[in-house]
Amino acid sequence: MNAEIICVGTELLLGDILNTNAQFLSRELAELGISVLHQHVIGDNVQRLRDLVREAKERSELLVFSGGLGPTEDDLTKETVAEAFGDTLQFDEEEWQKIVDFFARTNRRPTPNNRKQAMVPVKGRKLPNAHGTAPGAWFEDENGHCAVLMPGVPREMKAMWAEQIRPRLEAGQNCTIRSRTLRVLGGESSIASKVGELFDSENPTVAIYCKVGESEIRVTAREPDEPSAEAACDAAVARLRQRLGDNAYDVDVPGLEYTVVRILREQGLHASTAESCTGGLIAEKLTNVPGSSEVFGYGFVTYAEAAKTALLGVDPALIERFNVVSGPVAAAMALGAQRASGAELAVGITGIAGPGGALPGKPVGTVYLAGTDGRSGKVWVMRLTLGGYRERSIIRTRAALYALDMLRR
Ligand code: ATP
Ligand code: MG
Repeated sequence: MNAEIICVGTELLLGDILNTNAQFLSRELAELGISVLHQHVIGDNVQRLRDLVREAKERSELLVFSGGLGPTEDDLTKETVAEAFGDTLQFDEEEWQKIVDFFARTNRRPTPNNRKQAMVPVKGRKLPNAHGTAPGAWFEDENGHCAVLMPGVPREMKAMWAEQIRPRLEAGQNCTIRSRTLRVLGGESSIASKVGELFDSENPTVAIYCKVGESEIRVTAREPDEPSAEAACDAAVARLRQRLGDNAYDVDVPGLEYTVVRILREQGLHASTAESCTGGLIAEKLTNVPGSSEVFGYGFVTYAEAAKTALLGVDPALIERFNVVSGPVAAAMALGAQRASGAELAVGITGIAGPGGALPGKPVGTVYLAGTDGRSGKVWVMRLTLGGYRERSIIRTRAALYALDMLRR
């Protein structure tokens, strides 16, 4: 089956917002084994939309729309697509009541314009919107060509897609599709050298996406039923983990901080941070995880030397002797954070994020990371050379990732 994605909205053409809906829909359709021939962005203009729909409908069986379902005069997507699919719209009392209720919950009243949003297909079907006011619509013509209309708001669009559209498309494909995302520290080339040939597999498919300092490997299996699809995913993930070892840190989590918080919770441990060059990035990541208060209570941002001394008790003589960007200072920072917080584990980090500030023998990107474990009294120190990445934000993000990785072990 061929599909085209049509995102409606003048604000997309003006560059005011990034078209993340197209990315999401393309990925989902690819997973369903539906080929996306084109992605279109079009403004709120009826004549151009009419031409585009006619053209796309000639080429492809499925047209997937996002946006244009709003209450304003220029939101005419539904009317235009209905006409192209030989359908008309009618007022739907039930949808109207939902709109009235939605407004009432926020102490507002709908305007007469909102009645437009309660118009639904006569021959096609309406797609109720559980998260907003505008229902979506599904049109089908006599040749079996379909158009699916969803709201532009990403949260509403994704919910409608997952709950109502994807299951229908999956049923039409006579299979169940499941996927897992394995997260791995390291870049694409180092991963490809270990598991490269698995990327050629047709079912499950294995795809890699690079992020800063890590990669996502997405495994997607298509099988006749759900248990076999789940089992195929699990088997592929197990194979990948076996080859990638400890760098493959978790499955279906948004990032390493989630894994760290989970492990610390399971072990009943607490962590603290003493950050210089990362400026609180590690603490920010950790506290972004729901439930992190169980494992993280204290963090320090000590950017100036005086702050390292005053808050963490780093001896000025140590700074004088080794320089502030050094292993001994990173270790003293971690020990200071551990002492002040009473946490079992702590990390200290000091480095040169650039673009200026290079020292003799310590170019931009030199970062010292220390970890301490109060139970054994052990201290680890690592020197990172991240200068090759040049950009300040990348150096900081990578340094934070290494620190989180140290907390995991
Ligand atoms: P309504 O106007 O009632 O909110 P709508 O279906 O007309 O619904 P739009 O007006 O097109 O939706 O979009 C609403 C908001 O959703 C936009 O301001 C934008 O922030 C976001 N949005 C719309 N389309 C996209 C897209 N393709 N990618 C990412 N965000 C989008
Ligand atoms: Mg709109």
